[in-house]
Amino acid sequence: MKVLFLDQSGKLGGAELCLADIAEHFKQTSLVGVFDEGTFPQYLRQLEIPVKIFNKQTLQVQKASSLLAGLKSLNQLIPLAAAIAQCSRQYDLIYANTQKALVVGALSSLLSRRPLVYHLHDIVSPEHFSRINRRIIITLANRAVLIIANSQASRDAFIQAGGRADCVHVVYNGFRSEDYANSIDSAAQRQLRSEVLSLDSNQSDDTSFIVGHFSRLSPWKGQHVLIEALQYCPENVTALLVGDALFGEQDYVQQLRQQVKSLKLENRVKFLGFRSDIPQLMSACDLVAHTSTAPEPFGRVIVEAMLCGTPVVAAAAGGAIELVDPGRTGWLTPPGDAKALAEVITTCQNQPDWANVVADQAKAQAVRRFNLETVNADIARLLGNIKQQKR
Ligand code: UDP
Repeated sequence: MKVLFLDQSGKLGGAELCLADIAEHFKQTSLVGVFDEGTFPQYLRQLEIPVKIFNKQTLQVQKASSLLAGLKSLNQLIPLAAAIAQCSRQYDLIYANTQKALVVGALSSLLSRRPLVYHLHDIVSPEHFSRINRRIIITLANRAVLIIANSQASRDAFIQAGGRADCVHVVYNGFRSEDYANSIDSAAQRQLRSEVLSLDSNQSDDTSFIVGHFSRLSPWKGQHVLIEALQYCPENVTALLVGDALFGEQDYVQQLRQQVKSLKLENRVKFLGFRSDIPQLMSACDLVAHTSTAPEPFGRVIVEAMLCGTPVVAAAAGGAIELVDPGRTGWLTPPGDAKALAEVITTCQNQPDWANVVADQAKAQAVRRFNLETVNADIARLLGNIKQQKR
């Protein structure tokens, strides 16, 4: 199977990490086309996955604005689509992994007559997209022969927005559980904890209860909810915010820093920026909190925490509801509810044995449910069906 994967982003977000895992499976015969240089193509090269940068200029599009407006003019879009169409003639199909890749991929597929596949990593709802963007996504996605939705929630929102139900298949993200389990021994874990906790000297005896938050800094990812929750938690509860503002959300970063200052939580909140040692950091945390205020399409970090054996609390909306069985494999709290989050944090702190039982159950289930090999086999089968239909 020769696949031309397309992704707009030079940056390494959840959709790109998911694509890298799929593209690695097909790397002998496939190519990943990216519209911008950056950490994502660098990551692909490290994995020896063939990658081609199609456009040195980033297509400037914000999710909230119009996709068309962002594309500035057809002067930019058409040469890009033509170059991709030309390239796609050597491949069996075009696999668009993001919205801008869908726009360009749909046009290229029209030009080269290669089938279009769309991997839907988003909830196409008013909370995430403007009306015009929703319409563009649905219209173009409906041209695809196959849509792979990353959760039931993404699938349902897509259909509710007017998407075709007959070509959508839900395939969860897959993970290599061995990358997460036992990624760090207890001595290295203590060392890492003291490194990240070096907030001030009197915390060096590490009596802290560390709540990790792993996500790009963005208003809907809800880091502010965790900061707010800290004020209702015991003094030794500390939050690690792991992740960066990937898409220029600098105002939000300022807002978070201001919130920390005004709540006098400087010693209890640590901004770690973007990190590549996620399994080690998650394993070193006592609890992982996911706090998205809008429905999360999937929530890789929830599964990753489970695979690390770290208890996880998630915001009860979107894909998170499909991942967490409350009280058995984690906890769910209403999105934006800082007090409810504080209650779960405090319970986990006070009842570590129970929290560990829940974490163990979550890990055992996650290893089975989100196995990368199974996921890649499912995707290969779905793509194989398209090739057969063409014959
Ligand atoms: N992540 C990372 N470094 C960071 C913060 C996050 O590698 O500093 C990874 C995280 O482990 C997860 C992905 O980024 O695999 C985020 O995926 P998720 O589905 O949680 O959110 P998205 O970014 O796709 O909205």
